[in-house]
Amino acid sequence: MQTIKNVYLDYAATTPTDPEVLEVMTPFFTEIFGNPSSIYSFSSKSRAAIEKARGQVAAALNALPEEIYFTSSGTEADNWALKGTLGKLRSRGNHIITTSIEHHAILHTSGFLEKTEGAKVTYLPVDEEGLIRLDDLEAAMTDKTILVSIMFANNEIGTIQPVKAIGELCRKRGVLFHTDAVQAAAQLDIDVRSLSIDMMSLSAHKMYGPKGTGVFYLRKGAALENYMHGGGQEKGRRASTENIAGIVGMGSAIEKTKALLPQEKPRLCALRDRLIDGVLNSIPKAKLNGAKKNQRLPNNTNFSFIGVEGETLLLDLDSRGISASTGSACSSGSLDPSHVLMAIGLTHEQSHGSLRITMGRHTTDEHIDYVLETLPEIVARRRKMSPLWEV
Ligand code: PLP
Repeated sequence: MQTIKNVYLDYAATTPTDPEVLEVMTPFFTEIFGNPSSIYSFSSKSRAAIEKARGQVAAALNALPEEIYFTSSGTEADNWALKGTLGKLRSRGNHIITTSIEHHAILHTSGFLEKTEGAKVTYLPVDEEGLIRLDDLEAAMTDKTILVSIMFANNEIGTIQPVKAIGELCRKRGVLFHTDAVQAAAQLDIDVRSLSIDMMSLSAHKMYGPKGTGVFYLRKGAALENYMHGGGQEKGRRASTENIAGIVGMGSAIEKTKALLPQEKPRLCALRDRLIDGVLNSIPKAKLNGAKKNQRLPNNTNFSFIGVEGETLLLDLDSRGISASTGSACSSGSLDPSHVLMAIGLTHEQSHGSLRITMGRHTTDEHIDYVLETLPEIVARRRKMSPLWEV
């Protein structure tokens, strides 16, 4: 079988910056370099570019421009949501509800707040598909609950949470609702108003924008402490000289992503479903991890192959030109089993034999054919060598 070079199938880890996005960013590294905070007219172009990007992000989310704040990453936006809410509402309560399958940007932040700030955090369990139960959420709420932070869609298994119902419940109970939409925003239409979202985190590099730029959506009227302290940028809410090129890239990337959604979403769903069916039909005892197709991100697949180490699979795939992942990029390299896969009830062995394949704008039918030719052979060869595989 011929090796195809550079079959990149790790779009949940990051995406390439779109050449059109890069083109609109480029002048802001060179000729349009004025500090937006300066008052001379040369800087007005920088200010105007930031406000244009703010409008583009707001339009994509059905938000108001004044509800959009630019950050350095999705991680920073997640930190802001948790630390800013506790900082503001501590006198009302110290209870935060999140889930056991959040990204570490949430889990490690909530752990920090428990350790240093006396926060009480409830980690909701999920079912075998990775979905929370609304009854569990309602039962966990107390008069001390100040924040619910539940991710829109999971980065490892692609499960999409019932965000609208969660938002409505939080609104009814007077509790702020934050959602980490870093993975979801590149794949799904998000309307913050109709979903009753108070705060949301986004990241440009997951949607064909640059690394190092994020967005924090904060509903007008929702009060929060600042997270970054310093100068008066972003209307005094987020200090630090603006990353203008990154911000312009974010605006352009989200606008294009939104415009392409009607064609990209069904295209990716078709590729995903062909890959899932192909893998389950051709590899004995292959298991699909995560939700059924209608509750799953269009670009996500995650499998377990018992008798095979995920890391070994990655190296074998890499030698055939395929880039994939065993879990989130941040935790790959660690030998701990994925907290997400453990939370949906997998054994250590199943978790260690997991493979995440995530698709994107440059994924073709040919790439999926190539994986379906390559993967069964690799899994079979590794299983033959494994003492754990006895079929
Ligand atoms: N939240 C989720 C769900 C993610 O998948 C990621 C990145 O993988 C992040 C947060 C962190 O985003 P950033 O890389 O912009 O800090």
